[in-house]
Amino acid sequence: SKAKIFDKDGPIQVTFKDVAGLSEAKTEVEEIVEFLKNPKRYTDLGGKIPKGALLVGPPGTGKTLLAKAVAGEANVPFFSMSGSDFVEMFVGVGASRVRDLFRQAKEKAPCIVFIDEIDAVGRARGKKPNMGANDERENTLNQLLTEMDGFGSNSGVIILAATNRADILDKALLRAGRFDRQIYVDLPDLNDRVAIFNVHLRNIKTDESLDVETLARQTPGFSGADIANVCNEAALIAARHNKSSVQRQDFNDAVDRIIGGLEKRSKITT
Ligand code: ATP
Repeated sequence: SKAKIFDKDGPIQVTFKDVAGLSEAKTEVEEIVEFLKNPKRYTDLGGKIPKGALLVGPPGTGKTLLAKAVAGEANVPFFSMSGSDFVEMFVGVGASRVRDLFRQAKEKAPCIVFIDEIDAVGRARGKKPNMGANDERENTLNQLLTEMDGFGSNSGVIILAATNRADILDKALLRAGRFDRQIYVDLPDLNDRVAIFNVHLRNIKTDESLDVETLARQTPGFSGADIANVCNEAALIAARHNKSSVQRQDFNDAVDRIIGGLEKRSKITT
């Protein structure tokens, strides 16, 4: 029997139908699903299966969701860790977490290893010898490179990593045989926003006042995560008003609230 797919919140059952839009990115990761399900088809002809791919794009656009969907579609275990979990102040801890992660993954292959925020550990190494925390981060990065080189390309472990800053990554990570494929995950356009709203409206009790197309037009620049937020917020607002369904006005109020939050966020970062 197949291993269950777990992440830290328990079993996950994400598939491509949970990922709206992102049609190019989905096409690219479909091949990875094939590598996991049917490796022999490639290796019998002498092909080497890629070890990993880098998902690149702004926050909240579905990189983690897509990585989980790859595991879900291939029905393989999903191991995930955030780059920031590797960066520790104590000497050797980051490198040993990397070793542990890959040891577990190799035991459970075929599987997906997902490293979110890889830039936290994978920023370009300094030219001069560094001290303290930076040194420790470099040890962790070196361990990651060693692990990636250490297993054969046909081991059944495929590593997906996510970043919104591919430009600051150490070039060693992007070399052939490591993350030599980059998959772009962009903010959704109008049609994609309609599709994302439809995914997140599946479990929400709406009434006929709702017009998804209009909502999508009101939300340029929103990420998938922002849209998921709008839907949830609208349901909470309707409930607060003791309504039996979520109406157009509740969605409008939710959009205003999220836009307020986005404005605050951009004031802080600029
Ligand atoms: P970060 O860079 O901040 O880690 P991310 O790109 O990994 O973000 P996710 O964590 O995958 O983004 O997205 C957060 C949530 O937003 C998802 O769990 C999902 O509910 C929703 N979401 C984002 N993109 C999409 C999408 N394309 N289709 C459907 N839902 C989406």
